[in-house]
Amino acid sequence: MTKEAYIGLGSNIEPRARHLVRAVHRLDSQPFIRVDAVSPVFSSEALTREGEEQPDFLNAVVRVETMLDPHSMLDACLRIERELGRERASRGWAPRTIDLDLLVYTDQVIESETLTVPHPR
Ligand code: ADP
Ligand code: MG
Repeated sequence: MTKEAYIGLGSNIEPRARHLVRAVHRLDSQPFIRVDAVSPVFSSEALTREGEEQPDFLNAVVRVETMLDPHSMLDACLRIERELGRERASRGWAPRTIDLDLLVYTDQVIESETLTVPHPR
């Protein structure tokens, strides 16, 4: 049985649009994940600590059909982030080439150490 999930994509390091497109293609190329809808691209301000300046994000949301469980979906997202050259800063919110968040997974509510769904931010 396939499940429906929504993944949020964001980039605030140029080329932002290219990073989004690459991430969508990579998601669709994963085993057991099929991208079946893509939102328009929109722009948002970065969440930052007070006084910190960061470039705006380009964002999009994709709907996927998947046979993966939520934690495997998260693993796939984090793998694609690494493949697209995301460097994980030790300090919290840093600019990123690509951020992939599992926003929604069917109607499930998950609160584990590594995964919170629906995504709170
Ligand atoms: P954020 O996306 O909140 O700005 P990060 O992408 O740096 O921050 O956070 C990554 C960590 O957040 C992941 O290692 C993952 O374990 C955790 N996380 C918890 N819930 C989710 C979720 N629904 N989607 C993606 N990552 C999540
Ligand atoms: Mg994230």
